[in-house]
Amino acid sequence: TGHADIAFTGADAQNVYFAYGEETILHDVSVTIPRNQIVGIVGRSGSGKSTLLKLFMRFWEVQKGQVSLSGHTVNDINTANLRNMESFVTQETHLFHDSIKNNLRIARLNATDEEIVTACKKASVHDFIMTLPKGYDTPVGELGDTLSGGERQRLGLARAFLHDAPFLLLDEPTSNLDSLNEAGILRSQREEGQDKTVVLVSHRASTMRIADKVYSVEHGRMS
Ligand code: ATP
Ligand code: MG
Repeated sequence: TGHADIAFTGADAQNVYFAYGEETILHDVSVTIPRNQIVGIVGRSGSGKSTLLKLFMRFWEVQKGQVSLSGHTVNDINTANLRNMESFVTQETHLFHDSIKNNLRIARLNATDEEIVTACKKASVHDFIMTLPKGYDTPVGELGDTLSGGERQRLGLARAFLHDAPFLLLDEPTSNLDSLNEAGILRSQREEGQDKTVVLVSHRASTMRIADKVYSVEHGRMS
């Protein structure tokens, strides 16, 4: 894996086939995600949406076809470079047994407190954090299982904003959020303007109104 440091200029999948085991999950899937656009992916549960995002992250190796970033197949991009280019927000945000602040800072170790707050405001999670007994210094462990799925997701989104990679992959990012939050989050993403390319997986038509283009997947095939 060569290519020391590639700038992000867009992503695409070309005629991709993928199977976890025997059964092929993605059949001849092609999508183009141009730089600075928001591309939506919709489809029923189990249709292969998350799998496709994972291939862009190179969590799995493509068996046939090509997944590329900036015109280079992901197989040829070194892992550190991949990590600099991409942020992946899923429904499961894993939190360490540590303070909220340290849990956010892992996205960018040199982030200042101010930058952390800015990211949390953009992710609509700052007000929530301020209601906690010790604010940003509250240990996650002290919250027990009181963090809702939506709160965790918004912390995950704040991490992504802190990481500040040019390519943001959002897997059902707002399924646990109310519509007000959703609108705010997507708007702030949009206003980010320059150098933000987003691929957004959602079941909801309302979320897709913000997308420049929407692909629809059915049983692992583009329709
Ligand atoms: P949802 O809308 O429910 O999130 P999805 O479109 O994201 O669904 P995927 O998670 O991509 O669907 O799953 C596509 C298919 O691949 C499903 O049949 C699923 O059971 C299967 N699958 C997903 N992950 C794995 C895995 N790690 N090993 C084996 N099969 C898997
Ligand atoms: Mg999924």
